[in-house]
Order: sequence, then structure tokens, then C-alpha cells
Amino acid sequence: MANLVRGMRDVLPEEARQWRAVEERIVEVLDGFAYEELRLPLLEMTELFARSVGAATDIVEKEMYSLTDRDGSSISLRPEGTASCARAMLESGLLRNQAQRVFYRGPMFRHERPQMGRFRQFHQIGAEAFGPPGPDVDAELIQIGAEIWRALDLTGDIQLELNTLGAPAARAAWRDALAAYLRPHRAALDADSARRLDRNPLRILDSKSSDTQALLADAPRFDDYIDDESAAHFEALKGLLDELGIAYVVNPRMVRGLDYYGRTVFEWITERLGAQGTVCAGGRYDGLVEIIGGKPTAAAGFALGLERVLLLRQAVQEADPEPPVDVYCCVLEPQWQGAVLATVQRLRDGLPGLRFRVHVGGGRLKSQLKRADQCGARWALLFGEDELRDNRMALKDLRSGAPQEALTAEAVIERLLGGTA
Ligand code: ATP
Ligand code: MG
Repeated sequence: MANLVRGMRDVLPEEARQWRAVEERIVEVLDGFAYEELRLPLLEMTELFARSVGAATDIVEKEMYSLTDRDGSSISLRPEGTASCARAMLESGLLRNQAQRVFYRGPMFRHERPQMGRFRQFHQIGAEAFGPPGPDVDAELIQIGAEIWRALDLTGDIQLELNTLGAPAARAAWRDALAAYLRPHRAALDADSARRLDRNPLRILDSKSSDTQALLADAPRFDDYIDDESAAHFEALKGLLDELGIAYVVNPRMVRGLDYYGRTVFEWITERLGAQGTVCAGGRYDGLVEIIGGKPTAAAGFALGLERVLLLRQAVQEADPEPPVDVYCCVLEPQWQGAVLATVQRLRDGLPGLRFRVHVGGGRLKSQLKRADQCGARWALLFGEDELRDNRMALKDLRSGAPQEALTAEAVIERLLGGTA
């Protein structure tokens, strides 16, 4: 018996329809902000993620699906999109003295413990802006997020949290002070935090352990270390958000799991999905392009998790399951099947929004109509001997129960264009 791989999911038709609707709305918002789509490969050199995401991060330390290519090089299924995006922009020359705004979408892979809202293959839509370093870019990226929630009717269920990580030198000084403060308390830390103390001490800030959090209450605060320029950047960003009417909470404990962030970081969070409450996360990563071999290039972006967005929509909204078929076409004479297929294609051409399903496999009218009903079709078209000889078909409104009418293809198109028969 072949089984689904742990942490993977099948998206079955009814859910896939929701996915598509949600993706389309998100992409419409990104289009409206003039972000352009980039399609990226699933496989990258492992080195790309080790350098950019960071060798000491959970992702690179233990979550990547890596394999040895036939030439001996180590390649990995992408665990996130930003590094690939920066690599592609750099390699294609698109970053040469130009501001660029792009988005990507698709599956990402991380070997994590599967649970609600956390999978080993999951899907992101991400947006990235390369070039200008100012807080106006950060504000616009956040505005895009707010518009996406509005387009999905989720505004009331998602809150924005913000923080600043300052410039690299300020952050390094704070990190060292934090590690020095925590080292004498190593024994009181949870296991993960103790391990991070030497490798990646800032990550200790988002530990879920209450003992660790208690220790952190008196830890050195970034406020005392932040550089003036980053502080001004953060103030300007908050001013812009105020002007836009976008509410936020400053969360000084938010550090993000990836090494490449600096200055602004933000998360869009919901309370409705338990521990997996972050539906979208992003920030500024001005150092990234240089880390992977380019010239210093300011950059900022975000990625949203589609599974979590979908789960949230399901949690807050009545599903209105849309039937998979609009018009069910009953074929009463097997020898007419070819003529019916050709005629229905003319109807599809004239009615591009409607979904037509032609009955296959023969059978009596009664059982064909039963099938039409089961799949939720609004209309049935009956192709019988008499109608076909007359170049017509019988249109039946399955909801009103009104008597059926024999119509030409043109008349059917006209009738269904109005949406009501
Ligand atoms: P988390 O703290 O939930 O692990 P993260 O900080 O690792 O998230 P990012 O790398 O910033 O997440 O990815 C951006 C978004 O992608 C997350 O906010 C989340 O919505 C989604 N995401 C990340 N990992 C997963 C996963 N394993 N399964 C489903 N969605 C995920
Ligand atoms: Mg994670």
C-alpha cells in the first residue's frame, strides 16, 4: 500500500478551489502594487541557505531536505523563498542599479514536527523589494499585507507586531550582552535555549518556556544598544503606519528565525490558530545580497503561509461550497456523442465563466439527471434525437423546475449569459 509521506498533504478538489480563490485574490493585490512575479526552482545549492538563512538556524541545522546530486554537490529543497529570490535577481543582473519589486509563490520544505498549521511541505506567497533602504518600503510592504487581509475578509482576525533589530553592529553588541547575562543561568534554561546560548542567543528571546521567559525579564534590552539611524528608521516607519491607519503592537521579543534580518521585522498574527498563529512574517534584510556575493543592496520583504491563511479563513467564515459543475449535458443517443462534444465546445467558447460536464458512459435519462443533481449543476442540457436533428437542445433549469425549452446553441448562450434561465 502506498501512503502519503509524513508532513505532506493532498489538497482535494473542494479545498483546491478555495486555495485558488485565495491565491488569486492575493496575487491581485500584489499586481495592484506593481509587484512582478518570479518563478523559482525548488532545488538550490545547500550552500545558498547555509550562507543566507544562517548555518546556526533551526532551518539549516535540522530542517532541510538535502541530497547529494550526481556530481557530488549538496543540493536542497528550498525551505524558504527569499534566498532563492535574491540569488535569481543577482544572477540575472536584475539588481544592477535598479529598484525591483517581485513576488513568488509555491511549495517550501522543512523537516519539522507536523501539527495543525505546520507541515513539511507548505506553501508561501512572498514579496520582496530590492533597492531603496528607507522605511517607506517597509511601510508599503506592511500595507500590502493589510490589503491582502482586507481582500480576504480577515482584517479583524489578524494583528500586526513589529520590532527593530537595528544595524548589525548594534545587534551583535546586544547579542553578546544577552549571552553574557544568560550564561551564569545556563542550568535554568530550557534545553533548546541552552543549546542556542552559544550558537544563536537571540533566538532564546522567543522561547516558549516560562522559566526562560522569567529569566529574560531582567535581560539587557535592545533599547540600550540600538544605533541612532535604526531608531530613526523605526520611528519613521511607525509614523507612516499611523498615517495609513494600520494598527500595530511593538514586540521587543520578536527576533525572527532567520539570520538575514536587520532593522525592521514584523509578523501578522492570529489568535485563532493556536501555537501556529503567525500567518505572515517579514522584515528588512539589507545584508543578504552581499552575503550571497552581490553588491550591498537594501532589501525587504515578507512571506505568508497559505495553509495558515486557509485554516484561518475556514475558522472564521462559513464555507460556501461552490458546486464543481454549472451545466450537465445529458447524451441520450450514443451515436450523437461526437456532435454533442462539438456543440458543447461552442457553448464553452460563448460562456467562458461556466463549467460544462458532458455525460460519459451512456445510461438512461433518469440516471443522467440524477448525476447532474448530485454534482450540484444548476442547469441540464438534454441532447436527444429530435433536438439534435433540429440543431437544438433542451435546457432545463434544475432549481426552478420550470418546463424545459428546446433552444439553439445561440439561444442557450444568450439565456445563460444573463445568469438566469
Ligand atoms: P514559525 O515560527 O511558525 O515556525 P517561521 O518563523 O519559521 O514560522 P518563516 O520562515 O518566516 O516562518 O515563514 C513565513 C510564514 O510561512 C510563516 O509565518 C508561516 O505562516 C509559514 N510557515 C513557516 N513554516 C511553516 C510550516 N512548517 N508549515 C506551514 N506554514 C509554515
Ligand atoms: Mg519555523
